[in-house]
Parts: sequence; C-alpha cells; structure tokens
Amino acid sequence: MSGKLIMPKQTGQKDAFYASLELLYNSYKNGEKWYSNDKFKVEIQKLLPYLSKGAQDGPYLVKQSELVRYFGLAEYDYSSKPGKSHITDSGIRFYNAYLQNNEKLQLDIIMQAILNNSFGRNNTAIQSSDSDIDPPKLFLKAIVDLDGITNKGLAYLLYVTNDLNITYNDAIIELSKSNNRDREIPLEVSHKYNDVKFTVLLNSLGIVVKNGDVYKLSKYTSTHYLKQIRKLSIYNKEPELVLTLKEEYDETLESQIDEPLFTDIDQNKVISSYAYDITTERFKAQNNRIPAPIKIGKKYRYKTNPRISKTALELANHVCLGNKEHITFVSKLGKPYMEAHHLIPMSAQRDFSINLDRIENIVSICPICHSAIHLGDDATRLELVKKLYDLKEKELKSVSLNISFGELFSKYYK
Ligand SMILES: [Zn+2]
Ligand SMILES: [Zn+2]
Repeated sequence: MSGKLIMPKQTGQKDAFYASLELLYNSYKNGEKWYSNDKFKVEIQKLLPYLSKGAQDGPYLVKQSELVRYFGLAEYDYSSKPGKSHITDSGIRFYNAYLQNNEKLQLDIIMQAILNNSFGRNNTAIQSSDSDIDPPKLFLKAIVDLDGITNKGLAYLLYVTNDLNITYNDAIIELSKSNNRDREIPLEVSHKYNDVKFTVLLNSLGIVVKNGDVYKLSKYTSTHYLKQIRKLSIYNKEPELVLTLKEEYDETLESQIDEPLFTDIDQNKVISSYAYDITTERFKAQNNRIPAPIKIGKKYRYKTNPRISKTALELANHVCLGNKEHITFVSKLGKPYMEAHHLIPMSAQRDFSINLDRIENIVSICPICHSAIHLGDDATRLELVKKLYDLKEKELKSVSLNISFGELFSKYYK
C-alpha cells in the first residue's frame, strides 16, 4: 500500500529557510513571479557565503529551499529546464510576518500548512515521494500521544507505519509499552529515518522545543493547537480525488442519500475543513478536475469537495451574497457561519463537461437564504437566484459555464 517515503534531507537550518524565502519574495515584489534555479544558485551563495566553501554542486544549492517548499511557502515547476520556483500566498504572508517580527503569525502559517498540506505525496519539495504517511503530522501527533518523542522514536514510527504498513495506533501502543522511546530499526533505513531535517526547523521556529533529546510541543503550539493535533490523521489519503478507499466511498454514499434535499453540501464538513491556497497547483487540479460520476444503485452522482466550498466561503469573506446585511453566528473555526450553495446545482453536472464543484459556481449564503433558495415559493426563489446569478455570471463565463438566467431558473430551479 504505502510507497516510497522521502523527506527533505539537505538542511533544517533556519538561515537557509529564510534566505530562500527572501530571494523568492524579492523576486515577487519586483514583479517576477518565477525565479529560475540558475539564478537561485548564484544568489543563495551571496546570502549564505558558507555554501560556497568546498565543492558544492547545483542540486545541493537548490535544495536549500526544500523546506520552504515542503511547507507550501513556495512551489516548484519540475517541467521547466532549468527548474524554477515561485513564492505562494502563504509564503508571502509568512515573509511579511517575518519582516514585521510577528513570530506568532509565522507559527500559525506553518501550523496551518502542517494541518492542511500533503507531505508524503504531491508535495512540491519532493516529487518522488509516494507514501500515505505525512511525517510532520506524525511527528506532532506522536509528541502529543506519547508526551514527547526522540529522533529514534520518530524513526521507528516512520519505518513501521510506512515500510511495514503497521497502523499508527498500533505503532504508538507498541512504542509506549516498551517504556523507552529508543527502538532500533534496520540499518538500511536507519540513515533515512534517523536524520530528519524538518524537526530541526520546527524546533528553531518554536513550534516544538527540545528538552535533552526529547521533542515536546512549545507552549504556544500546545495552547493553540493541541485539540487539532489530537484529531489529526497522519495519513494523506486523497478523499476528494478518485475513490480508492472503500470506506470513504461508502461514507459519501450514505451522506448523499440520507441528506434532505436542501443540504446539497455537507456544511459541517465545509466549516471544519481548510481553504486551499488558490495559487497552488493542488487547488487548480481540484477546481478544474474532470467530473467523474459515481454509480449509486441505478443513479449517478458527483462527489463534491468540502475544501473547494470552504475556499469559496473564504473568498466571499463569509458574507451572505443573498443580502450582505445578513448576520449569523460564529462557527467552529472562528468565522461567521455561512453555507455554500452550488448556483448551477450538482444535479445539473451531467449536462456540463466542466466541473461544477468549483469556486466560480459556489456562492456563500446564510442559512435563511439557503433554505429560501431550495424551499421558497417561485417568487422568492426567482428573486434570490437572479441576484446570485447577476453576481456570479461573469465568473461563470470566465470558465466557460455559459448559461442564461432564464435557462438556469427554468431548468434547474423549477
Ligand atoms: Zn444549496
Ligand atoms: Zn442571507
């Protein structure tokens, strides 16, 4: 099941992390989105003169930015020659926080990345990694579950969960009953798992602290993120993509069948998920995915991705597009509660070759407006749908979703 697990290995040094970001940030500020590796190799040596000592090859220099990419602060284009990279939205926010000496915001951004991103696969720092395991999540969760972890304990967990396919829970039980965290692992994987660099960086950023050889959560992390770390899954399954996992498939079917008609999106999943950084390829791949139906009994249905809905809500600033005066309440993740609604309903997907579960087609509305749209009388629904259509028409057209208001209303809201 699990494939190859690769982690950044060049450096966990904070200076290389910030120097890499500085180059990409300045390039962005100068209006140049992409930064070529050739330039990076030259400039990084100017910022970190010690890199020039001895014979250092190109890949070694480029890898100084590995951890910046690992945590989603930059993206890398593997298809171009020479390679190039650019800073992401969260990278810009992070570097601005750094310039303002705002350490807490920096921690928050890295924590969001850990909670949100995929590390074992589809990570722009290590293209060749293909594992279900997300090491930074495993690291923080194991610290909480075992009340601290050593490098050796971490190496053991990475080895048994990835290479032996032992579940995380079983591995934790095994490790905790041995009453010491130092378990030996085979020599051939010892180098790979015993010398993890991202832990060094997380330590110097203040997300974890090291007492002797034991890592613990920092006070800040423990105060603000303990609950979320506890709930964290160390696996990076891709629930929104094609259905490879039986349980998820069944779960979706159940929620889609049992839901009353007007909860066209599971709003609970939406509020408890995280928005995408819309500059990333990961987001674009999801937003522009090719619609693929799932067969349920005799019917076909299309899966929706709660993170896309959440992204649409964030972009709308959690304001009700039915009427921006509408006020609700603060929901679990601290934002005004709004619901996501597909303006062109998902039931229309079969009529469109373009994915409808996308930010251009999702509106943020309050629960009253949402109920009104599905349950109101004709006049009520017409007025609301028209208002939303006028707000979204341009966006819909921008992704070739060409539909007139008349057609939308008569076909899908009748
Ligand atoms: Zn709806
Ligand atoms: Zn409203």
